[in-house]
Amino acid sequence: MNIGVLGAGQLGRMLALAGYPLANRFTFLDTTGNPSAGIGDVMVDTDQKHLESFLDKVDLVTYEFEHLPVSLVRAIEERKPVYPGSEAIRVCQHRAEEKALFDRLAIPTPAYRLVDSAEALEAAVRELGTPVVAKSVTEGYDGKGQAVIKDPADAAEAWRSINHPRLIVEAFVDFVREVSIIAVRGRDGEVVFYPMAENVHVDGILRYSVAPMPDLDDAVQQTADGYIRALLDELDYVGVLTLELFQTRDGALLANEMAPRVHNSGHWTQDGAVTSQFENHLRAIQGLPLGSTAARAPTCMVNVIGREGDPAKLLEIDDAHLHRYDKGERPGRKLAHVNLVAPTHEALLEKVRACAALLPDAPAPSFSFE
Ligand code: AMP
Repeated sequence: MNIGVLGAGQLGRMLALAGYPLANRFTFLDTTGNPSAGIGDVMVDTDQKHLESFLDKVDLVTYEFEHLPVSLVRAIEERKPVYPGSEAIRVCQHRAEEKALFDRLAIPTPAYRLVDSAEALEAAVRELGTPVVAKSVTEGYDGKGQAVIKDPADAAEAWRSINHPRLIVEAFVDFVREVSIIAVRGRDGEVVFYPMAENVHVDGILRYSVAPMPDLDDAVQQTADGYIRALLDELDYVGVLTLELFQTRDGALLANEMAPRVHNSGHWTQDGAVTSQFENHLRAIQGLPLGSTAARAPTCMVNVIGREGDPAKLLEIDDAHLHRYDKGERPGRKLAHVNLVAPTHEALLEKVRACAALLPDAPAPSFSFE
């Protein structure tokens, strides 16, 4: 089976690494001119001339990057199976569409308004009450295209700085923690769920994910399972889907956003779960039985961002697994991650602190359950 992947970054690289044991081959289509997968057959297609030869090579198509023109994905669907389908891409690349779907499926979200002028933004800030987070409806990721507004008088400046014709304005959630649920749906509609992860973001970028969470109520996991199952079934989805949520003081979950692909908050599954998110995505899209999503032991994923530190030192930590992306150092760039596995959460936290101390740009680790 030759799997075509739209996008050629580290997520594609890790898909390929999980697929070789299944005798999969990989062809990547990169439209940015900066592929970093460093594995498989990478086709650079900045002038959109190589789509036909890409499609001739592959048996089915998936993606590691959802900000693709929907028309392109629909055109590919005419030629080859695409999993997840174009409807998932259409919804997930647009925050307003995503929120409308959450509303339709009765999945709670922060209160929000859609605005298309500085004046409307100011009115929305007054209505929702400060603080709010304003986000461009498209093209935003890792906290880009966003502004926190603390005073209605700052709305005009925020409108200018985001510089986008349409924004979603959300009430700022006083969350206890950020969490994510990752689930996989097979071609036959079977769904499996990973244990939820607690995710620590700094400046909108994920730094740490811990799973399973030591203090997670079964009922909360079941609520999250129900939300993501509703999304998977509604979209007739095949593959891995990620839903990011805020957990509030009373235990309630509010949906933030979703990603129609393998996700950074699921990297812990490579060393901490029976079957990784990457392998399960490949199993799903090929119509193979899904693997167990059970956690083997408490695990923490530590993102390596900006500068790499000394890999040999990191590998001295017991049960530390370094996954490097073979990319050049640059401020803010995701270069690698370390999965730390330990028999108890207490032992895990010690390893996380030791690991963070070895990474030049890592923020101090801090979790809700400490
Ligand atoms: P996003 O790109 O929507 O995932 O936002 C990036 C980060 O900004 C999130 O991981 C949160 O840390 C923070 N954030 C986004 N929306 C809200 C909100 N409504 N309330 C509080 N924090 C938020």
